[in-house]
Amino acid sequence: MRSIGHFIGGKQVKGTSGRTADVFEPMTGEVQAKVALASRAEVRGAVENALAAQPEWGVTNPQRRVRVLMKFLELVARDNEALAEMLAREHGKTIPDARGDILRGVEVVEFALGIPQMMKGEYTEGAGPGIDVYSMRQPLGVVAGITPFNFPAMIPMWKFAPAIACGNAFILKPSERDPGVPMRLAELMLEAGLPPGILNVVNGDKEAVDAILDDRDIKAVGFVGSSSIAQYIYERAAATGKRAQCFGGAKNHAIIMPDADMDQTVDALVGAGYGAAGERCMAVSVAVPVGKTTADRLMEKLVPRVESLKIGPSTDPTADFGPLVTRAALERVKDYVEVGIREGATLAVDGRGFKMQGYENGFYLGGCLFDHVKKDMRIYKEEIFGPVLSVVRAKDFDEALRLPSDHDYGNGVAIFTRDGDAARDFAARVNVGMVGINVPIPVPVAYYTFGGWKRSGFGDLNQYGPDSVRFYTKTKTVTARWPSGVKEGAEFAMPIMN
Ligand code: NAD
Repeated sequence: MRSIGHFIGGKQVKGTSGRTADVFEPMTGEVQAKVALASRAEVRGAVENALAAQPEWGVTNPQRRVRVLMKFLELVARDNEALAEMLAREHGKTIPDARGDILRGVEVVEFALGIPQMMKGEYTEGAGPGIDVYSMRQPLGVVAGITPFNFPAMIPMWKFAPAIACGNAFILKPSERDPGVPMRLAELMLEAGLPPGILNVVNGDKEAVDAILDDRDIKAVGFVGSSSIAQYIYERAAATGKRAQCFGGAKNHAIIMPDADMDQTVDALVGAGYGAAGERCMAVSVAVPVGKTTADRLMEKLVPRVESLKIGPSTDPTADFGPLVTRAALERVKDYVEVGIREGATLAVDGRGFKMQGYENGFYLGGCLFDHVKKDMRIYKEEIFGPVLSVVRAKDFDEALRLPSDHDYGNGVAIFTRDGDAARDFAARVNVGMVGINVPIPVPVAYYTFGGWKRSGFGDLNQYGPDSVRFYTKTKTVTARWPSGVKEGAEFAMPIMN
């Protein structure tokens, strides 16, 4: 059986803690690898490698740094199909979806190629008599990223590409459920010319995470995962004075106005609700039709579409979605379906009986659809993270606007309408971080930034885009006087620029 260790100091190393976790192949349900779970000492070993390598990397000129990323892009393109297949086999998503996972990461690497331009400082000549002021952006040193299972290519790239382009060394702690692709990405970075020690991967669980959080030599941590862990990471990282940005779970609403193009809306809802088996932080999990007629028209078209979704093994390119990531995830989602029934929601489509012929032990669940879901139900309040869509009927626009605005989560939201006034008003007033107008998954392009509000994001600044440069650098400001020999005598009052 394949065993996955760590990537430290530019090479694969075996785990020494004696602890491992199973990596499943969700489509068959079989264990395909064992991944090492790092001890505190192994994490510290990675930090020491990073500390030794970072000073030279930090003063390497920015253009040379991004040339490594340029070469890395070529290597990812070369190995794209193998990466997509490995990703699909470890995560469970389909191969076309795995290609998207890689590509949305690649886009942030492409963004990072322009980081030399964004690291330029400011300069003011003559801010006072003979005084010039300038600022410079400097790397933080060693920084870390802790990432979730659901985008094992995209989110590691969102984290390490900007951080490394800014001159930092990076410790990546990917999800222990699908660590194969992040390990491969680190090897490709080395092949692209990255000095050993600048990108290290430590596999592990809570022990490795806590070691990262408590290590005073790590100056910033970027986390993506569920909200309760995000909050924990944020608070514990702050105790050692780290910068922290911690992105959490979601409950993304799609508002359907009476004038929406219903065919387009239903296409959007099935794709965004059930793609990747609903295991996306930007998946639509709540549909809010406005008015009874809209709701009835929506359900008439939506029910047959959900009933006819094609579920298949990850290697079937014609499948709409594949299995869930683990048996535990499957059982958890099924439990939520039970909860919804007990709470009195109408289960309009029940996917629990789905069996995949030839893959009977895989972690499959058919699409489920609830109607008449109410605000106080757990299936509305909590993140399910599976192929389950809840329909909450709103009587008017104001009620529809309040639902996502008042919800604890605030990652993404979408509105479907032909009415520009309603869409504009909605986008301005909704209390959510990312908004789509007739776009169900509004993940911003790489040169904007990604980040949710409320329990979907703890800390400061968003991921990728200009915010990533702010997050991974610190600003130094220099006030200089030339000629230096001007004699003014001792000055005891607060200096001012006369
Ligand atoms: P998770 O919170 O279980 O795990 C995320 C990371 O935290 C992993 O690396 C894991 O090893 C680590 N971890 C888990 N338990 C821990 C603990 N007790 N102490 C310390 N570290 C711990 O999340 P997941 O199941 O891998 O991913 C799915 C979640 O991620 C969903 O809630 C989803 O909405 C969210 N997500 C959010 C975004 C976003 O940008 N907001 C993007 C993708 C996924």
